[in-house]
Amino acid sequence: MVDQLLRATAADGGIRIVGVVTTRLTEEARQRHNLSYVATAALGRTMTGGLLLASSMKRAESRVNIRIKGNGPLGGVMADAGADGTVRGYVDHPEVELPPNAKGKLDVGGAVGHEGYLYVVRDVGYGYPYSSTVQLVSGEIGDDLTHYLVSSEQTPSALVLGVFVGAAGVTAAGGLLVQVLPKAARDEALVETLESRLSTLTGFTPLLQAGKSLPQIFEDLVGDMDLQIFPETQLVQFQCNCSFDRVLGALKILGETELRDMIEKDEGAEATCHFCNEVYKAGSHELEQLIQELRADSVSF
Ligand code: ZN
Repeated sequence: MVDQLLRATAADGGIRIVGVVTTRLTEEARQRHNLSYVATAALGRTMTGGLLLASSMKRAESRVNIRIKGNGPLGGVMADAGADGTVRGYVDHPEVELPPNAKGKLDVGGAVGHEGYLYVVRDVGYGYPYSSTVQLVSGEIGDDLTHYLVSSEQTPSALVLGVFVGAAGVTAAGGLLVQVLPKAARDEALVETLESRLSTLTGFTPLLQAGKSLPQIFEDLVGDMDLQIFPETQLVQFQCNCSFDRVLGALKILGETELRDMIEKDEGAEATCHFCNEVYKAGSHELEQLIQELRADSVSF
């Protein structure tokens, strides 16, 4: 199934459901950053969570940044997701690998660390980002983001995130977000039924591996609760907004002395984008041009 995001409501709009398939974009991140198995799972879950969080924002320019800083060997995990369906991200130590945990699963919690912080920044695009920080619950990321939604955004939520990565790369990845809005939260029987059904889910990747589509997954969960699936499917993808021009802009800020130094010592400059690992090379000629621009700028001031 192609990477996509699908929204639905149930219980007369009292339940909000979003499902996303992120298999290809997680595989792209794995290849771009040379991620280990456990790093693939950690970043894939974080990027998937980012897309699910961003899905509630109305404006296409809106973005969600998730930064996880735990005390584990992976260091920080960062994902930047947009309401437009684009996402990018990285981990500090992509090479870190750990043996499977007690359940025989990739030890994401051990790699991220069980203690630390989760930072979420929501930026609607008007220049006043809203940020919030919570302590990590387990470092497994799904639990941590659920805790964030419940404690910081005060919305009863369940978040299921999963990445299956084997020798052939990522073969299944995605997630499900279920939120109970105030009008349905008062209906105790409804909430109880929903909770018991969610508790039977053993993860998200087994559903994909069983060949279930997003509408089928929704149907299985709340098909008898007045399920309304939105007609539009949104495509989601790994995409970074870095460019050679932006790199040149960043180099220019360094100033003439530094640029001159780079020309003399290295005959140019090399910059790697953290988010997508793209390498940009600027030659002496381009740096020379930046110096000319700097001089022209200073004259016009
Ligand atoms: Zn980039």
